[in-house]
Amino acid sequence: MQPFAGAEPLVGEVIALRTFRVEESGLLLPLYSEQCWSNDTNTAACPRASHEAPADDCDCGFYAYGTPQAAAQNRGMRHVQAVVSCWGGVVAGTQGIRAQHARIDALWLHPVAPEWLRKRVAARYPLVRLYDDVEQMRAAHPLSVLPSYDPAPTRNHRAWAGVLAGSAVGLALGALPLDVLRSSPALWTAWLAAIGIAGAVTLWLALGARFPGHFVAAAIGFGLVSWLLAPLFGLAGWLLRMPVLRGVLVATGTYLWSLRPRHFPVVVPKRERVYYGARA
Ligand SMILES: [Zn+2]
Repeated sequence: MQPFAGAEPLVGEVIALRTFRVEESGLLLPLYSEQCWSNDTNTAACPRASHEAPADDCDCGFYAYGTPQAAAQNRGMRHVQAVVSCWGGVVAGTQGIRAQHARIDALWLHPVAPEWLRKRVAARYPLVRLYDDVEQMRAAHPLSVLPSYDPAPTRNHRAWAGVLAGSAVGLALGALPLDVLRSSPALWTAWLAAIGIAGAVTLWLALGARFPGHFVAAAIGFGLVSWLLAPLFGLAGWLLRMPVLRGVLVATGTYLWSLRPRHFPVVVPKRERVYYGARA
């Protein structure tokens, strides 16, 4: 069974937990989409096919976690938590559900969220009950318990360690000058193999992307491939190393910025918003 699929389709309302990004206008956005949620019923559409969301062999629909333990794996939960009612087509897995229709019942913003932002959220979502205390919200809105949920979800630490170790080896090889790589048959073979593997994985991610996270992973893979090719170009190779260096700088800066006390992430809008559901 998969995290958000695999169990028999469900009938009736399912109460589940999720997080949102908060725009400075007070609108609530999913983590990987620029389409904001409305005050009442939201209806998911499949971005790839003409079927109704959620389809069992697709990844469309509104995502929500089934248990606080599963939700805790999402960093966004530290800032924003929402209890949502889901209905219509609903597929369930070990971590939570994907649903056709969803409505926000209750919302908790971390106490450091600025007062002006709370007011804007309240004005945008008059039907949503706002809570200052997360425990109070959970007590007032108990989550549905489904048989497919895994009570103790675990992250795949070993797979992540493998990806990190592989990337570190790739970065080390791509930082070496070409004559050093040539001087040792083992290094040379490892370098060629790294280019082959990183290239194949990047191509697979880019062509087979089914989820926004895949595009992000493909962009990182592309950076790694150009980093690995850099030794071929001597000093000019530093141009090929720029995407990775820039990415590391931005990621470090963003992380350090988020560590400051009283930090609450607010999204600055880029363009006109598209709504799910009735307010389109
Ligand atoms: Zn779909």
